[in-house]
Amino acid sequence: MPEGHVIHRLAREINSHFAGTAPVVTSPQGRFSAEASLIDGHRLAAAEAFGKHLFIEFDAPTPQRIVSIHLGLIGSLHFDPPSETKGQIRLHIEGGEVAANLRGPQWCRLITDQEQAVAVGKLGADPLRPDADFDAVKAKVARSSRSIGSLLMDQHLFAGVGNIYRAETLFRLGIDPMTPGRQLGPRLDAIWEDLVGLMRYGAKRGRIDTVRPQHTPEAMGRPPRKDDHGGEVYVYRRAGQSCFVCGTSIEHVVLEGRNLFWCPGCQN
Ligand SMILES: [Zn+2]
Repeated sequence: MPEGHVIHRLAREINSHFAGTAPVVTSPQGRFSAEASLIDGHRLAAAEAFGKHLFIEFDAPTPQRIVSIHLGLIGSLHFDPPSETKGQIRLHIEGGEVAANLRGPQWCRLITDQEQAVAVGKLGADPLRPDADFDAVKAKVARSSRSIGSLLMDQHLFAGVGNIYRAETLFRLGIDPMTPGRQLGPRLDAIWEDLVGLMRYGAKRGRIDTVRPQHTPEAMGRPPRKDDHGGEVYVYRRAGQSCFVCGTSIEHVVLEGRNLFWCPGCQN
């Protein structure tokens, strides 16, 4: 599943191509046709990401004027030449030389301003948003008996954080993923700061790199990582391999339905 940095990048790219223009909006697959016809040809005001939610606001005269998208596990939003029509395209936004094609999302809906406010209100703090209110989240996490490995996957607390950032931030800070939130104390601020830094880098570069300068392939004389997700990481998908820092074998366990990776040597 794409993590929040991907959604923020998509919002930025939509804005760069279409903000302030009145693009053609259709649903070649048909499942979003009625909704698309309400915003087709109206000005695209702005795209915005909150956590893993993408909102595209149109200046349309109907109450439903905001496209709400969640990519889920298999959804994708690609920028193609306008002639590209491969696959089941739920939403097609076209203007000039480019088209945005949405395929296989968990959902794509047309909603009102009020519905957007409700959806956003349920989300936690997004490390990539300047208006994020971490203090509210911190108070909840600091009272919780749930493990930080579980809390970090809760979108009502940490919006946009996914499986890779969860594992890597905890490793970088030497925190055992099973530590209850209420035992973290000042380390909660460190988690937030680390997420902000890592995710800003991810949003800027379009890939997740979490290793410090002394642990890059160049610095360690090791081959670069080969993984669909790209990027140099400490523990994510490295179960059974040696920790770059202490040599211990990386462990993994399923937590909140997703594989959690950690180093028992460094994180305790
Ligand atoms: Zn280690």
